[in-house]
Formats: sequence, structure tokens, C-alpha cells
Amino acid sequence: MADKGDIELAAVLKRYGSAIAVDSISLKIPAGTYCCLLGPSGCGKSSTLRMIAGHEDVSDGDILLGNEVINDLPPARRGTAMMFQNYALFPHLDCIDNVAFSLKMKGVAKAERRARAMELLRLVDMQDYAARLPAQLSGGQQQRIALARALITGPSALLLDEPLSALDPFLRARMREELKRLQKELGISFIHVTHSQEEAMALADLVVVMNRGRIEQAASARAVFNTPRTAFVARFIGGHNIVEAPADGGGRQRISVRADRAALTAPGSGEAGFGGTVRAVEYLGSVVHVGISPNGGTDFAVDQGEFLVAVNENKFFAAPVALGDAVSVSWKLEDIHVLEA
Ligand code: ADP
Ligand code: MG
Repeated sequence: MADKGDIELAAVLKRYGSAIAVDSISLKIPAGTYCCLLGPSGCGKSSTLRMIAGHEDVSDGDILLGNEVINDLPPARRGTAMMFQNYALFPHLDCIDNVAFSLKMKGVAKAERRARAMELLRLVDMQDYAARLPAQLSGGQQQRIALARALITGPSALLLDEPLSALDPFLRARMREELKRLQKELGISFIHVTHSQEEAMALADLVVVMNRGRIEQAASARAVFNTPRTAFVARFIGGHNIVEAPADGGGRQRISVRADRAALTAPGSGEAGFGGTVRAVEYLGSVVHVGISPNGGTDFAVDQGEFLVAVNENKFFAAPVALGDAVSVSWKLEDIHVLEA
């Protein structure tokens, strides 16, 4: 028996003319999940979100909310609400009327809708701005109003398309925390589209990595980071080296090795590795990134020709290396993760 807040995509396909934007994806999002759809531009994230919201038709397959197929329901009758990337606030309405707008459309009496809107303004800590126009607010404040406006319908899922991309980095980090807090407080699912792996990792209970209209992996942030299913996921999530290496049983295999698990070591030490030349040194504060190109004649082929070792700051400066130095890189066998072809 499905919870009424469960969302399921069953072989959902989106075609624009003859081009396939979303290619028969299947996914279950349990009620109360913070889900991030993550992937590069054009991979089908927004199309997927818009189909869930009802702003875009499904070309094939089903979208279910609880046990109900909602493919043909209009957006307002789905139990979902959408917060748009540009917030889409009405410029001539003050904050409280912006927030109360959908209740007005439903014919809710003025006193009641304003009381309800005030509750939502309090939820996003904007009660003191009820009489302001959107143009009199900062970007972060506008976003809170947009959030309150989306939440006033009491949705079982809130859909957010790149909600943080217009904010400066400081505000982005703060709003990120607030979104997460709000989601936990409300106990409903948030489905949040982003191309930032950092954002997805920070927020999501369920990270859905998409590529060319398909789902490459859907799992917890830790599972995606520690056991990326494919080379695409390992590359996109970052902090991994993708290496083509001899397989135990003969032949070749593709493995990933986390940059922070590999080490610069004396030649021949460590359980696996290679010798190479330092091509890049980047000081990043708590870690130093060292890029190494393998010497010719090793058994390993490194993705993009450069292997990344993330060295703890103190460790790096205890034995610093510089551009052009000959070094050895090694890792433990237990830190090898085999990728699917
Ligand atoms: P994302 O949000 O991951 O960047 P989109 O879902 O917006 O990806 O787009 C997926 C693909 O579908 C892209 O190739 C895009 O150009 C195409 N696309 C999106 N919207 C439309 C549309 N309304 N008409 C035609 N093609 C579209
Ligand atoms: Mg998009």
C-alpha cells in the first residue's frame, strides 16, 4: 500500500518532436524524501520535474502519486507545487497577496486566506515583510516569498527547479540549509533540480544522477560518492580518479579511486599504483590537489591523462612536491571500486 505522498515514475518518456529528452525513466521517491535530480545541462532534469508538476505532458509511461496515476490531472489538482527558477512573483502584489494568491483563485474568503498566508510568511521568517512589493526585497527574500506561495496549497511534494542558482555563494549556502530544515519540518518530499553535485550531496536523501535522458544512478549521497555505478557518475560527482587497469581474471577493467584515498608514496610501496610526474599543484586550504601524469609503459590508463591526489594540507607541507617532480602514487586494494562498463 503506497503512502499518499509516494511518487513513482514508471517508464516515463518525454519526446519533443522526434527528440527524446527523457528516456523511459523509472524511479520511486518515498514520501518525505529530499530528492535531488542531478546532471549536466540538457540531461532532462527540468523536463522530468515539469512532467511531475503537470506543466508538461508525458509522452509515454505513468506518473503516480500514492496509488493514483496523475498523468492527466491539471497541476493544481496533483497535490504538488512548483517553485520556479525566477520565482515568478507578481510585481504589483505585496508579499501577503502573492502568498495568498492560489487561495484567492480557489475562492477562499479574504480574512481566511490572509491569516493562512501570514502563517506561511512566519514559516519562512518573512512576517515583517507582508506589505512589501517584490521589487523591495533582496533575492533571498523573494525566494522565501516564492517558497511560501508554493507551500500554501499544502502540497505533498514541492518541486524546485534550480532554486539556488540565482543567489550569491554566501546566500546560497544559507538558503540550502533553510530548504533542508523546511523539508524536515514539513515532512513532505522536495524534488530539487540542480547541476551542482555539491548541492545535491549536501541536501539529498536520494540523489538521482541523470545523463542524456536516463538515470545513471539513484541512491543516497554516500552511496553515489563511495560506489558510483558508472564512469559518468564518478566523473560528475568529482573527487574520483577513473583508471583502466588489468583485471584480476585477465583482461582490463575500469576502476575508480577516490582522490583522498590515493597517496604520494615512496616508489614500490602501497598495494597498487604507478610512477609519474607532477603536472599541477593547487592549494585549496584544507587540502592540496596534486595532478600526476603516469610514466609511459605503466599498466594503467588514467582518465584525461591526469591522476588527482588530494593531500591533507599538513601532510603536503611536511613533504611538498613541485611541478615536474617525479613521484609515486599508490592506493590500497580495498579502496578500489570497480565501475560498470
Ligand atoms: P535540463 O533541465 O537537465 O537542462 P531539459 O529537461 O530542460 O534539461 O532539456 C532536455 C532536452 O530537451 C534538451 O535537449 C532540451 O534542449 C530539450 N528541450 C527542453 N524543453 C524543450 C521544448 N519545450 N521543446 C523542445 N526541446 C526541449
Ligand atoms: Mg533545467
